Amino acid sequence: MTKDSTDQPTPMMAQYLAIRDANPGALLFYRMGDFYEMFFDDAVAAAGALDIALTKRGTHGGEPIPMCGVPVHSAESYLLTLIRKGFRVAIAEQMEDPAEAKKRGSKSVVARDVVRLVTPGTLTEESLLEARRHNYLAAFARVRDDCALAWADISTGAFQVMDCALARLAPELARLAPREVLAAGHELRDLVEDAGAALTDLHASAFDSAAGQRRLCALYGVETLDGFGSFTRAELAAMGAIVDYLELTQKGKLPLLRPPVRERAGGAMGIDAATRRNLELTQALGGGREGSLLAAIDRTVTAAGARLLERRIGAPSRDLALIHARQDAVAMLVDDPRLTADLRTALARVPDMDRALSRLALDRGGPRDLAAIRAGLAQGAAIAARLPDDAAPVLADAVRDLTGHDELIALLDAALVAEPPLLARDGGFVAAGHDADLDQTRRLRDEGRGVIAGMQADYAALAGVQSLKIKHNNVLGYFIETTATHAERMMAPPLNATFIHRQTTANQIRFTTVDLSELETRILNARDRALEIERGIFDRLRRAVLDRAALIGQAARALAEIDLAAALADIAAGEGWTRPLVDDSRAFVIEGGRHPVVERALRRKAESFVANDCALTEGDTPAIWLLTGPNMAGKSTFLRQNALIAVLAQAGAFVPARRAHIGVVSQLFSRVGAADDLARGRSTFMVEMVETAAILNQADDRALVILDEIGRGTATWDGLSIAWAVMEHLHAANRCRALFATHYHEMTALSAKLDGVENATVAVREWEGEVIFLHEVRKGAADRSYGVQVAKLAGLPASVVDRARAVLDALESGEREGAARPAALIDDLPLFRAMPPAPPPVKAKQSPLDARMKDIHPDALTPREALDLIYELKALT
Ligand code: ADP
Repeated sequence: MTKDSTDQPTPMMAQYLAIRDANPGALLFYRMGDFYEMFFDDAVAAAGALDIALTKRGTHGGEPIPMCGVPVHSAESYLLTLIRKGFRVAIAEQMEDPAEAKKRGSKSVVARDVVRLVTPGTLTEESLLEARRHNYLAAFARVRDDCALAWADISTGAFQVMDCALARLAPELARLAPREVLAAGHELRDLVEDAGAALTDLHASAFDSAAGQRRLCALYGVETLDGFGSFTRAELAAMGAIVDYLELTQKGKLPLLRPPVRERAGGAMGIDAATRRNLELTQALGGGREGSLLAAIDRTVTAAGARLLERRIGAPSRDLALIHARQDAVAMLVDDPRLTADLRTALARVPDMDRALSRLALDRGGPRDLAAIRAGLAQGAAIAARLPDDAAPVLADAVRDLTGHDELIALLDAALVAEPPLLARDGGFVAAGHDADLDQTRRLRDEGRGVIAGMQADYAALAGVQSLKIKHNNVLGYFIETTATHAERMMAPPLNATFIHRQTTANQIRFTTVDLSELETRILNARDRALEIERGIFDRLRRAVLDRAALIGQAARALAEIDLAAALADIAAGEGWTRPLVDDSRAFVIEGGRHPVVERALRRKAESFVANDCALTEGDTPAIWLLTGPNMAGKSTFLRQNALIAVLAQAGAFVPARRAHIGVVSQLFSRVGAADDLARGRSTFMVEMVETAAILNQADDRALVILDEIGRGTATWDGLSIAWAVMEHLHAANRCRALFATHYHEMTALSAKLDGVENATVAVREWEGEVIFLHEVRKGAADRSYGVQVAKLAGLPASVVDRARAVLDALESGEREGAARPAALIDDLPLFRAMPPAPPPVKAKQSPLDARMKDIHPDALTPREALDLIYELKALT
């Protein structure tokens, strides 16, 4: 927008433009009284995105200024819509009372400034966040050849960093699912957006490692970061960028960030983005949580517990000691169902302390956040008291973190009412008896109201007007009101010495008195003073909480840990799960394994799940199962259930199996042939091959690989050849554990050739030409594919099924006789005849012979004519 010298902007518009220009790239919410207003292009964009009315206000450069607005009290829901639609929003508040501005002169504008930049990765409001999910802001930094990824959830204070080569970025983003990623430059846009995040492109200077180090030292008030561990320059740069961005968006009010934790590379099972998608670990293929492993097993009762479970499922550990410690906690609770039930009942009353704490730190919190801390710590103490002295170490650590908060609990308990209001602004949250000054002021304020009632009675008697009332409105304050008929006497001596006329309306006359205005002043003062005292108390309590922020954060984590252990114990006991033996062998032995998500879906239909065994090696030879069987037999289910069991086992959970022995899985890969990925504009076959290449290039001998119908995206012989070669590579080069499902029966011959490759099949039974799925996995190869029977089940027309059967028979017998060339077979097979009679021949194609035949009526022919006809027809052929 150009400024036009002939049309000077109003002082307010000049202020608006200055603020807007200082905050490029964001919609500006410009506070005007009870509304946030937007102007110019912002207004057009926001009105469209929010579906609200676009109006005009004044002119600029001779053009009307487009404008729209949202009420402040409901601004959050509009903000959410805008953030979801990819906008970022700068919020400019009034920084002074409008009365102050007026005092400076009639032309003076209320001072305004941006107090916050709202972006997808920096949300803190309850209503803008998903309670059971993290809301991560990530930063990717490159310092020469070094790369690092840092991520923070400012709504909980979590802050982590790791060394992260560019090639690892996509899988790490898939694991963390951040909302926003900071990076220098646009090159990463596709990669970031594929992970479902918004890219915020920052200037390279935001990623300066020396500046990053200084910022971090200042943030934590330390001279050196050595106490937190040693960090690479790229890691310092990534963490520094996060702190810098938070300072920018929160306008100097820094959220509570716990000291950064360095994530050890190789600490977690490697799971790439495609595998995560395929296995539907935390999100179903159709999007959303429902249908995912997470949704099927989540029995946590607190939001923090749910977030912890998501983290564990998203990053199963490879650290045996850690896995065993977590299993110990679950095992102890499985053995004590009464305790587990008690804990879960108590946990259900624990509020989200992490998020309350972060709002308080950002000065966006209210009395309810203080109450959440009180309730969380109090419940925490009660929960700690329930756990026995000899609890498993993970739980014993939690008990330690939950004790020692008594003083703060007592303070909050004494200071706050039972159910405080959301906002500190209106007061009413400090309990009676906490502060003598406040109690006295409140008494004055409340008594004032009682005194007014008494005054009304006195004045009614004095004036002799029973209907006289003392009322209140915002313009006049308190006033005496009566009807015009009675008012006359009150305006004449001697009553006019007491009653002072204020206003005459259509039906009423209003008065005041010296005593009434004095009382009013006292009441108003008392009210303001009470509010002021409450605000002071709020600040003191907030300080007291923030002084212990780190300890409260630990208590919150301890509760999440107990919640998770209890939730996993609950599902283990309820669903008959067992504790898996996880060690550093290369075993993968599952007895009676089940798929938790499919089992749950079947149960809803009152069907039962058939448990299956899987035994890859316990020795040192590579172990691959080649699984054949018809479509719909349960191959994919079997493959995935084994992968999910590995994930659960290393997440520290019990597993849906009768027995499980798992040598730690370093990397997990899962691929499905010909997955549709049209959205990304690559051919499905190409995607399949790119993803398969990633496995062959990366899988080590501790990996677990699951391949489902690889190669089916191309012509038969191509597909078979590729599947064959992939299998050989896995066996010889990767030497990993693998499950390979295929409908290429030819591949079963490989087991005879390759040591450690075994055939397995999902059993079906044929009965009166129908196929019955037994869902049982057995050693051996499928005898045939039953595709025709499955097609019949799918409702293909009977004529097509019969025909397919005939073609199949011919193909199979041809194969036996060594003449299996489809081209030759086509000649042998009589052509398809559809069951309803073929449509009549088209006229143009009618031959003269046909035409002649049509006219013949055999019964009307004499023997002589018949003989002549035969000669005639013969001539036509
Ligand atoms: P495939 O991969 O062989 O085509 P799926 O694994 O997709 O077959 O399984 C097809 C359906 O069979 C599943 O949706 C499920 O309802 C059922 N199913 C699979 N495995 C089992 C099982 N072990 N027990 C019971 N039903 C099963």
